[in-house]
Amino acid sequence: MKQFAEYKDVWVYTEQRDGKLMKVALELLGEGCRLSRELGEGARVCAVLIGDETDGLFDELYAYGADAVYQIEDPLLKTYTTDGYAKVMTDAIREYKPEIVLFGATHIGRDLAPRIAARLDTGLTADCTRLDIDTGNYMDYLQTYTTASTAGLDPESRDTGLKQTRPAFGGNLMATIITPRTRPQMATVRPGVMDKLEKMEGAKGELIRVEAKISADEIQVEVLEVVKAAKELVSLTDAEIICSGGRGLGGPEGFELIGQLADQVGGMVGASRAAVDAGWIDQSHQVGQTGTTVKPKIYFACGISGAIQHLAGMQTSDIIIAINKDPEAPMMQLADYAVCGDLKKVIPEIIEKWDA
Ligand SMILES: Cc1cc2nc3c(=O)[nH]c(=O)nc-3n(C[C@H](O)[C@H](O)[C@H](O)COP(=O)(O)OP(=O)(O)OC[C@H]3O[C@@H](n4cnc5c(N)ncnc54)[C@H](O)[C@@H]3O)c2cc1C
Repeated sequence: MKQFAEYKDVWVYTEQRDGKLMKVALELLGEGCRLSRELGEGARVCAVLIGDETDGLFDELYAYGADAVYQIEDPLLKTYTTDGYAKVMTDAIREYKPEIVLFGATHIGRDLAPRIAARLDTGLTADCTRLDIDTGNYMDYLQTYTTASTAGLDPESRDTGLKQTRPAFGGNLMATIITPRTRPQMATVRPGVMDKLEKMEGAKGELIRVEAKISADEIQVEVLEVVKAAKELVSLTDAEIICSGGRGLGGPEGFELIGQLADQVGGMVGASRAAVDAGWIDQSHQVGQTGTTVKPKIYFACGISGAIQHLAGMQTSDIIIAINKDPEAPMMQLADYAVCGDLKKVIPEIIEKWDA
């Protein structure tokens, strides 16, 4: 017997800004696709597209795996507002009852998801790094692994549950969180953690136009102007090559060398928290658990020891090149190429030989 039989499908909030989809939205469609197949019973992955005049984005959503698009359109939704977006998405969830709802852990996703979860009185796990489907009896699960009360749960219920895994206690352990009593199960996922699907040009899906029941007096904030902060221009998430520097740079001038390396290899500049905390570079460059999660093709870690909180943000990079004078540093163990030496000598040599 299923306790939550009326809930199905995986929804992804496909965040768009100025008519452009965020990369994490496409990554989550890929992950949603995998989860919906594991859920079985015809579950689909559906994109939720909120905004105004967003028809131009359907093809991209289908091409990256959406079986269906729920479009919620209104001139009042042209620019993101917490009130407006939370209202229309909560209404849609109440009406269509998805089993799982995923958001990118962007500034907007982190603002929107908790408002919706609170209105629906359901759980939300923030900053997940891994999601799995578990077909199990939650009663057994709770009794075996937790001290949580099982009062009110149907002992016969067998539901497919979402296991939501995220770093806890400063990244020193991974916690897996479940939502046994309520639906939908909601999670935010950091950009760069999940994989997009290969683009399937010409793919088609179902379009569901959802009426936006929203009026101006329900939106308490008026957006007068959107000003992009300079630091938003540091888009580490999309970078194919990242050259990061840590405390081993020895001072802010070390980032001039990192900048030269980045220019030579066509990469962006990243940093460890130690370098940021020392005031050598802006926080927008920080990679790691409390910075940006990245997944470039090549990640240079220069004078970075490889603390677990830094690794949490870059360990899925395709190729890791570490430069460190300590061969035992964790980053040197993880790296595909570990260069043991003084970065002030090694980096200029790489710059010189990169194109040669
Ligand atoms: C809750 C929490 C969240 C955190 N979040 C993050 C995060 O998001 N990102 C992050 O980075 N950290 C984070 N940290 C901090 C993290 O624990 C480490 O303190 C930090 O990553 C260390 O930075 P580092 O590797 O640059 O410095 P260090 O650990 O001091 O390492 C410096 C390295 O440089 C090498 N070195 C020194 N001189 C040279 C030279 N001349 N040439 C070559 N190598 C040299 C040394 O051998 C050493 O391995 C967090 C910590 C906590 C508790």
